[in-house]
Amino acid sequence: MTSLGYHSSTFDLAHVATDALGICERLRGAGKRAWLVGGCVRDSLLGKPISDWDVATDALPSELMKVFPRAIPTGLQHGTVTVVVRGHHYEVTTLRGETTYSDGRRPDAVHFVDDIIADLARRDFTVNAIAVNPETGALVDPFHGRQDLAAKTLRAVGNPIERFSEDGLRVLRAARFCATLEFELEPATFAAIAPTLATFRKVSAERVRDEWIKTMKAKEPSRAFEVMRTSGILGVTCPELLEGVDMVQNKWHSFDVWRHGLACMDACAGDPVLRIAALLHDVGKPRSRQFSAKTQDYTFYDHDRIGAEIALPIVTRLRFSNDDRARIVALVRHHLFHYDGWSDQAVRRWIKRVGRNRVEDLYVLNEADRVGKGPTLGEGDLSPLVALKLHVDKVLAEGAALSTRDLVINGNDLMKELGVKPGRTIGQTLEALLEVVLADPSQNERAALLAWSREILRELQDQA
Ligand code: ATP
Ligand code: MG
Repeated sequence: MTSLGYHSSTFDLAHVATDALGICERLRGAGKRAWLVGGCVRDSLLGKPISDWDVATDALPSELMKVFPRAIPTGLQHGTVTVVVRGHHYEVTTLRGETTYSDGRRPDAVHFVDDIIADLARRDFTVNAIAVNPETGALVDPFHGRQDLAAKTLRAVGNPIERFSEDGLRVLRAARFCATLEFELEPATFAAIAPTLATFRKVSAERVRDEWIKTMKAKEPSRAFEVMRTSGILGVTCPELLEGVDMVQNKWHSFDVWRHGLACMDACAGDPVLRIAALLHDVGKPRSRQFSAKTQDYTFYDHDRIGAEIALPIVTRLRFSNDDRARIVALVRHHLFHYDGWSDQAVRRWIKRVGRNRVEDLYVLNEADRVGKGPTLGEGDLSPLVALKLHVDKVLAEGAALSTRDLVINGNDLMKELGVKPGRTIGQTLEALLEVVLADPSQNERAALLAWSREILRELQDQA
């Protein structure tokens, strides 16, 4: 077995992408110095695969552009350019020193330095503040990041209260790294979060959303969300989720509402957005819980509908895209279903209600929801979900109409054949026709639908 990198005093350069080493060599050729630094060094010392190698150098931005004339000036004013080699992007950044942050988000002024130690000192955590000399493999580790890697500890560089007061994003990065690296926060670093939340409040919703999404790549994102809850971060971002903390459920669940959401998210093998839906799926439970005298247990009637109402403002203020918002809210709204041998018609109506494009997501969420109940009575077998999938496949294979677009007649036909005027009536008629066809797919046939339309139009007229 090879020992992990952090036990050794030098870095094994054999793991480094040759093109990254080539960039460092070009800089040396121009009389400059260069180091590999940041997340790539950290992850490599942990024995993880690396996707992005970042380079720090004492070359000034103008000099960088001379050495790499075709570099993309991605953040030239902060000293960052992107060098593309054989389709791969490498960030090359001029060494920067500490500066002041008066808005809690961005440094007031960037000042370039020629000392790698000063550059490492402005970085957030000790494990992110290790540099490698690409010629010798010598490690520059002034804050003992390797010790913290070995101990799986996330520790701020320097005074954590000062560092978190400079830049509000760091507390959220702390929570994220606890999940992605499976590390624990060093106690003083953790304790510094609560007193610096005023700075965290200044972080834009987009950046919070991006951190949430990155957090979802962890095996257990719940680790980050527990840090967010216990430190106060979540109270700023999503107080709605705190309502479920310690809220007992019923005999079907081992966990309170909050922990069930976390367990469901961890068990959810889908993409980040699906995992966010899993985290939020029961957000309506606290406001719907009632004690039933009959069963002597709690019920959560309507929590799916109430949950969707609560989830919408959450994902709106976190600035999710329209598609992601619609997806999360729909999954919260429709997460609850109990298949027990439904009729074909019931399956067709279910697909129509949840939306055909949500069916796969709901399978994954449903399975995660079951696992997330924990080892209780609730851990039933999977067969209802397997049976539902088979039934849905059969219904879809039959090609029955599941939306008004699948009907063999459309609004034009209603106008041409029956003289209906453009307007609301057309949509209402098509919806009513879909109901007919959902009940009996054989009715999806031109003559039959036109006959039904006449009847529907008469009824609509009577109502008017
Ligand atoms: P990953 O790419 O896996 O998210 P990373 O550590 O590479 O992790 P990046 O956001 O790519 O994170 O940043 C690269 C490096 O820049 C970090 O390792 C850290 O040294 C430094 N850094 C990034 N963001 C901050 C910040 N807000 N404050 C201080 N240093 C930071
Ligand atoms: Mg990175």
